[in-house]
Amino acid sequence: MKFFVISRGDDTSNKLTRKIKSYLEDFNLEFHDTEPDIVISVGGDGTFLHAFHHFKDRLAETAFVGVHTGHLGFYTDWTPEEVEKLVIHIARTPFQIVKYPLLEVTVRYNDGSKENRYLALNECTVRTVEGSLVMDVEIKGELFETFRGDGLCISTPSGSTAYNKALGGAIIHPSLPTLQLAEMASINNRVYRTIGSPLLLPQHHTCMLKPVNDVDYQITIDHLFLLHKHVKSIQCRVAEEEIRFARFRPFPFWKRVKESFISD
Ligand code: NAP
Repeated sequence: MKFFVISRGDDTSNKLTRKIKSYLEDFNLEFHDTEPDIVISVGGDGTFLHAFHHFKDRLAETAFVGVHTGHLGFYTDWTPEEVEKLVIHIARTPFQIVKYPLLEVTVRYNDGSKENRYLALNECTVRTVEGSLVMDVEIKGELFETFRGDGLCISTPSGSTAYNKALGGAIIHPSLPTLQLAEMASINNRVYRTIGSPLLLPQHHTCMLKPVNDVDYQITIDHLFLLHKHVKSIQCRVAEEEIRFARFRPFPFWKRVKESFISD
């Protein structure tokens, strides 16, 4: 089996990364930086997002597991003290795969440029570079509303505990293949009207954002910030691809939610 280890880059994570690599090589597993069967992320959820984007083109062949060197994360449940146990599991036991849904974002342009397709593990956010965001929101091909405000956040179930939560969105169990559309400070008065509540869309519904004016957009895909000009539409739907987690023990989602936000 081939493995790769990715570190947050701080001393603790780098040291642990070297230890994991050396332990796995002792078990005759092969370190491979382009075609690993398993990727071990060492750091936090932010590091895990980097690991996901690094291997997003081979999701069907790669499984992910996270070790946290700070606090318990949503993608990182193994502690540095448990690393020996994790290595033995990876080397010796055929692991169970748990899949989580992803968000597919397709940006199309009105200047003839080729469309861009992205996959997000947490979310996509859309803002303008200057002024309020004004966009028509279409759901399943029908105009739903014209949004005016700071921006929109479209998140995956596993991303619902990240930016989406700060916007008052619901926390969604990752076994549900859905996407959530949450508003960032919408303008609501006698002239402008938006729904004001986060919306959950099922797998077969597409959400299309269409600019009302020709401005530049700042679109984030997880930790990545991208500037887009001449945008014709931003299409969001549940992706066909999924992320695969290597699971060696139960890691109940609601327990993680409780331990992260209430008490451990
Ligand atoms: P960052 O600004 O350095 O850190 C953002 C925080 O979000 C970190 O504490 C990170 O956990 C946590 N996080 C990431 N994914 C999460 C998840 N699925 N559930 C719960 N918490 C999560 O940015 P970053 O490390 O590059 O991560 C990018 C993410 O930051 C974005 O995808 C977005 O969700 C989030 N973000 C949140 C807000 C907000 O809540 N107001 C604003 C901007 C961005 P670790 O400490 O374990 O890495």
